Amino acid sequence: MRFNKELKNIKIYEAGKPIELVVREFGIDEKDIVKLASNENPYGTSPKVVEAVKLVVDKMSLYPDDSMFELKKGLSNKFKVKSENIIIGAGSDQILEFACRAVLNDNTKVLMNKITFAMYEIYALQQGAKVLKTRCYRHDLDEFYDIYKKASPDIVFICSPNNPTGDALGKEYIYTFLEKVKEPLVIVDGAYMEYAGYKDEKKRVEPKDLIDKFENVLYLGTFSKAYGLGGLRVGYGIANEEIIKNLYKLRPPFNITTLSLKAAVEALKDEDFVNDSVKRNFTQMERYVNFAIQRGFEYIDSYTNFITYIFPKEVSSKELSNRLLQRGIIVRDLTGYGMNALRITIGTKEQNDKFFEKFKEVLNGY
Ligand SMILES: *Cc1c(COP(=O)(O)O)cnc(C)c1O
Repeated sequence: MRFNKELKNIKIYEAGKPIELVVREFGIDEKDIVKLASNENPYGTSPKVVEAVKLVVDKMSLYPDDSMFELKKGLSNKFKVKSENIIIGAGSDQILEFACRAVLNDNTKVLMNKITFAMYEIYALQQGAKVLKTRCYRHDLDEFYDIYKKASPDIVFICSPNNPTGDALGKEYIYTFLEKVKEPLVIVDGAYMEYAGYKDEKKRVEPKDLIDKFENVLYLGTFSKAYGLGGLRVGYGIANEEIIKNLYKLRPPFNITTLSLKAAVEALKDEDFVNDSVKRNFTQMERYVNFAIQRGFEYIDSYTNFITYIFPKEVSSKELSNRLLQRGIIVRDLTGYGMNALRITIGTKEQNDKFFEKFKEVLNGY
């Protein structure tokens, strides 16, 4: 048996632990488990979307409309771009994969932030590309530019707001960088843009603006976070027609499902649900900020639906996360990213009540 040599250096992506696993491993009742680990929308999905999907459940035997006409039309209205500027993926993850396959091979390089979405590195390594990272954990675009000048990467990844740190860049700051970087494909990942734009308009990057100004930029958005459709896997890429055409060459037919397509189309019609979720998110986030201040540990000011707590050396985030898990609370430990930190998705009021109750218990053990 022989496997491609590229696979040797790839670590398998570890997704947030599913509730089912905690039920199995710790014998905790499903209703007592609080999952704050995957940045899902804790308010679920718009009831209008759920109703619409129910009506197409009996169409499961049919392939979806492969042109995704309605969904592209919806996105095209929302973002004021042409349908030809849009590609739909099974999550924005699939678009990341298309982009890496379209551009990278073992003679190429990519540039990304020291701590960022883990899949960028995995897709790049799959193509045999060399991965360059900054030294700073926050996106420092001056450092990005220095490395770009020296190394000429073929893809540059900018994640704003950044996962798993939650910080976001100003729109103007990103534009200043893009004006100087014309050669590589620059991917601007806006998975949490709905949250950032609500908290601070200056951090809202508009895909139309981006593609009008820059020919080499691919913007990514997703229905998995604020829209509450993580389980249905729908994301989108927006870029100039040439980029989109090339990505299309790598797309398998029917790459999202009949139910996913319906759900995404309907989700775009219920912006009130999204706005309400985002608003509640930041109300609940205040509790997390206040808790960190009271307890005297560091947190990162967040523009997303999660917050990152950073602990002093004496307190191990890995240990904290294990102790929380034993109590039915699933959060994301960032030890694997080289940070002694926890990333906690902001839940509903009730979920957060439970989190704080258990977190206090766990901290008292220190
Ligand atoms: C969640 C996430 C994505 C992609 O999610 P999909 O479910 O594949 O759309 C992409 N980038 C970042 C930074 C994310 O956090």
